[in-house]
Amino acid sequence: MNRVGIAVYASHSAIQILIGAKEEGLPITLFGPPEALKLYRRFPGLISNAVEYRGEDSLNLLKEQGNILVPSGSIVEYVGYEAIKRSGIPYFGLKELIKWESDWSLKLRLLREADIPIPKIFKEPQDVDSTVIVKLPGAKGGKGFFISKSPEEIESRIARLIADGKIKSLDDVCIQEYVVGATMYAHYFQSPIFDRLEITGFDIRYETNVDGLKRLPPSFTEEISPSFTVCGNIPVYPREKLLETFIEYGERFVEATKRLIPPGIVGPFCLECIVNEDLEPIVFEFSGRIVAGTNIYLLGSPYLKLYWGKEMSVGRRIAKEIKIAEETNRLNEIVT
Ligand code: AMP
Repeated sequence: MNRVGIAVYASHSAIQILIGAKEEGLPITLFGPPEALKLYRRFPGLISNAVEYRGEDSLNLLKEQGNILVPSGSIVEYVGYEAIKRSGIPYFGLKELIKWESDWSLKLRLLREADIPIPKIFKEPQDVDSTVIVKLPGAKGGKGFFISKSPEEIESRIARLIADGKIKSLDDVCIQEYVVGATMYAHYFQSPIFDRLEITGFDIRYETNVDGLKRLPPSFTEEISPSFTVCGNIPVYPREKLLETFIEYGERFVEATKRLIPPGIVGPFCLECIVNEDLEPIVFEFSGRIVAGTNIYLLGSPYLKLYWGKEMSVGRRIAKEIKIAEETNRLNEIVT
């Protein structure tokens, strides 16, 4: 009999987490505001237990009921790091990593520690000598980023952002070399229970309007600046020879988290890459939780078949880790 359950917020990748928990026979509670729960109620039998989210009290209730919080990409935005921390609800994964993800200098420190190729970073607008992408804090689906190759333009746009109170200082932005190549988002699962890193798949983000601009001749698009709001995800299967590179990057990333943020990352994460013409993936960003790109494998990733003999979603893989950890009295190794 299971004693633990899973609590998941109603957004992002909740459908596959709900299906996965059911497949593994783990109780799961979906929580969120009524308008968010509506979608999930449309599918017969998808949810067995739903709780209306009313702030921290709801987190306390979910904790009392014996749930482990499985974070998805939007948990920070909708629930917040501080609330999760205060509630003390067991968190599947490395809670501390949220802080590292929301601070550019920490984020870059971790990527550098992992010793994986990253784009050139420019400290000051005046240093810019190639096309760059200027990123604001907090991943908001690429919203608010801009591309430029003019130090003067970058300087004045940053000054405006500071004047408008959108950022505090230059330290809040990251000025990255704009890498030309093919985007590929590599998905991983770090399992403390099996002491191994599993590669779970790859996706491409379908971004508006940068992907739409490709459909028009340049003479029609000169005036339109590209934006990167994610509206969907597309599967991609990297060339087999790239798999080893991706796996080694993942392993180095895991080891870096163990050194800098012990006990290190647990569960799903993603390295966001651009593969350049030398077939070298350049990692421009990471995500320390399940990414929405795994939704392309709602019913099962063929990569997970390589480890488990059957296709499964990342949602199911999470439920499996929790279930086995409980059965072997090792829950303390997978929650923080
Ligand atoms: P992000 O929010 O960091 O995932 O970035 C949003 C999108 O901007 C990505 O999916 C890419 O299409 C693009 N992008 C981000 N960083 C770079 C970069 N250094 N070079 C080229 N494109 C980038």
